[in-house]
Amino acid sequence: MKTLLRGGTVVTATDLYRGDVLIEDERIAAIAGSFAEISADRTIDASGKYVIPGGIDVHTHLDMPFGGTTSADDFESGTVAAAHGGTTSVVDFAIQYRGQTLRHALDAWRKKAEGKAAIDYGFHMIVTELTDAVEGEMDALVREGVTSFKLFMAYPGVFMLDDGSIFRALLRTRENGGTICMHAENGGVIDVLVKKALAEGKTAPKYHALTRPARAEAEATHRAIALAEMAGVPIYIVHLSAAEALEMVTQARDRGLPAYAETCPQYLFLSYDNYEEPGFDGAKYVMSPPLRAKETQDRLWRGLASNDLQAVSTDHCPFCMKEQKELGRGDFSKIPNGAPGIETRMSLVFDGGVRTGKIGLNRFVELTSTSPAKIFGLFPRKGTVAPGSDADLVVFDPNRKVTLSAKTLHMKVDYNPYEGREVTGAADTVLSRGKVIVEAGKFVGRAGAGSFLKRNTR
Ligand SMILES: [Zn+2]
Repeated sequence: MKTLLRGGTVVTATDLYRGDVLIEDERIAAIAGSFAEISADRTIDASGKYVIPGGIDVHTHLDMPFGGTTSADDFESGTVAAAHGGTTSVVDFAIQYRGQTLRHALDAWRKKAEGKAAIDYGFHMIVTELTDAVEGEMDALVREGVTSFKLFMAYPGVFMLDDGSIFRALLRTRENGGTICMHAENGGVIDVLVKKALAEGKTAPKYHALTRPARAEAEATHRAIALAEMAGVPIYIVHLSAAEALEMVTQARDRGLPAYAETCPQYLFLSYDNYEEPGFDGAKYVMSPPLRAKETQDRLWRGLASNDLQAVSTDHCPFCMKEQKELGRGDFSKIPNGAPGIETRMSLVFDGGVRTGKIGLNRFVELTSTSPAKIFGLFPRKGTVAPGSDADLVVFDPNRKVTLSAKTLHMKVDYNPYEGREVTGAADTVLSRGKVIVEAGKFVGRAGAGSFLKRNTR
């Protein structure tokens, strides 16, 4: 089966040129100025558009239990929504609950995805309890392609690990080649502030943000990097939101340490002001870390431009207002944490980053695809447009205007944090391993067509 993308402008993290892309079966076979001679089974006109590597979202929570409910998108609806937005791979999080093995957790999450995922998917493993046996299991998982582990410095009693356990896990990755991802917020401090606020009758959604200070994120970010430095391994900070935390990453990188961090669109486009929306609407934005002061947005964009931040992921974890976010009416600490974003990432970063000149076109591709692929062991199979790479490709129309709305987007959630915002630049045709899965705004792929991604070590 030969497919030809004709007449587009190929954009990778480093290149920009007019080129025809020839796909044979699941992979890119060749790229040339023009393949006038070749007769393909299917030709897709990409003229006037960019041909970019499919987006890679390395932070999603599909079908995830949290606070007595489950995130609204499962692996089918979530990956279909991702595809619509130009994302062709996700790395989701399997969760080890205390008393369980990592094996049990991985099996449980693979079952959630199998037969449902419409695009390729991998897993990070969330480790919430580190015994000798679990350390051994970490090695086994790395060998099976689950090469990254997420640890929490927040949510004491649920997810949080003490510094000793974190340090042990870091040391283990020095041996097995895995990567530690960190949720960096000081959970002890936050717990005290939450209890104090509730005791004072401060129950509205905005207190979620007011009890999670930027300094609590900065402190934990600094501590995570210091622990990784002592263990002699790289570290990846997930969903970095605060300028104070970015400063810690920047300082570390200036000292030559392999400290990496991602941020998410919500921190680039929304701010604390959203918590002040009337009634219970602030609950839409309850996520951890919380949205920060508006000035932070510029700092984060500068971090993305200067490579102090290496990736934009979504932390997609949607909960409906109805029946889900509502669980926290009268007690902000019971509002399920998370917001939808898997479908809107590429357009938002293009519109707010490339079109405003904050980042270049190559950097857009790098932040949304290439760099996450490199950090998480998927490159060069994913993350670029090159012969031999999987034909995960997006024909991206830089001029298409889309109004973001819960009504027209495909995520299974009853609100959108960007409701009514118009963005310019959107995925047109999307291919996953050579197969067209989105065309003319319609999903034409198949649930279950996505495969489990065995990722490499660093
Ligand atoms: Zn998350």
